[in-house]
Amino acid sequence: PTERVLAIQLVPFDSTRKLLLSRDITQIERVQTVHRDFVANVSHELRTPLTVIGGFLETFADMDEPDVGMLKQFMPMMLDQTRRMQSLVEDLLTLSRLENSPKAVPNEKVNMDELLATLRVEAEGLSRGRHKVVFDHSSSRWLWGSAQELHSAFGNLVSNAIRYTPEGGTVTLAWRDCGEKGEKAVFSVSDTGIGIPREHIPRLTERFYRVDRGRSRGSGGTGLGLAIVKHVLARHHAKLEIASEADKGSTFSVVFGAERLAEAE
Ligand code: ADP
Repeated sequence: PTERVLAIQLVPFDSTRKLLLSRDITQIERVQTVHRDFVANVSHELRTPLTVIGGFLETFADMDEPDVGMLKQFMPMMLDQTRRMQSLVEDLLTLSRLENSPKAVPNEKVNMDELLATLRVEAEGLSRGRHKVVFDHSSSRWLWGSAQELHSAFGNLVSNAIRYTPEGGTVTLAWRDCGEKGEKAVFSVSDTGIGIPREHIPRLTERFYRVDRGRSRGSGGTGLGLAIVKHVLARHHAKLEIASEADKGSTFSVVFGAERLAEAE
């Protein structure tokens, strides 16, 4: 947006004259708006599960004799809402940890064989047999970075692919060499799921940005997954590419340049 925000101030200059000061506060305003929206979003996300749990508890508090049948019926819903709040708080802590971590690029040697094996087990666990999970581990490269951060970023892409792909679909995890001379490597997650309409793609990594609110919440999403992915990848100087078509499926690719690649041990 080209609209600028100016702060204007009239200050005494000498006994007869005044000075008009103008300061461009566009950037400060922008940061404050993002911050306000964030707090409003977090509050809203927490309020819904708390209202549900509070409502159930009030119902029981009003009973002389607790109704065990009803308790059994309500318990799974309360647990579900509690888990939702737990995931949200976990994701908020992860984001805040990333924002507060040192600017230096993480530089441990990451065993990609181990990381990919873990992601495979996790993908199969999340899918519970509802999808075909395909695995293409054709690069032998390892990475320089943080194993824990990369696990969290890649894990988010995998869990999205599973959550946004209906039963019977295919989710493919790949780690391949790429670039003209194979000097780079790409981790990608492709799915045959609901896809993303083109106009939403540029905003997906914003905190709490969702294509379809109801669907995302229903599938257990916090709305922070891709914001975490963006942070981790920026710290690793890696590039996220998103290709998607509504009703066909999506591919999220993470490209690592030569300077991030390590020899396998
Ligand atoms: P959420 O917790 O809502 O999934 P994310 O930050 O992980 O939050 O993703 C943001 C939004 O991007 C999601 O709400 C969803 O609309 C869209 N999205 C992410 N991954 C996929 C995918 N594989 N297929 C379709 N839509 C996706």
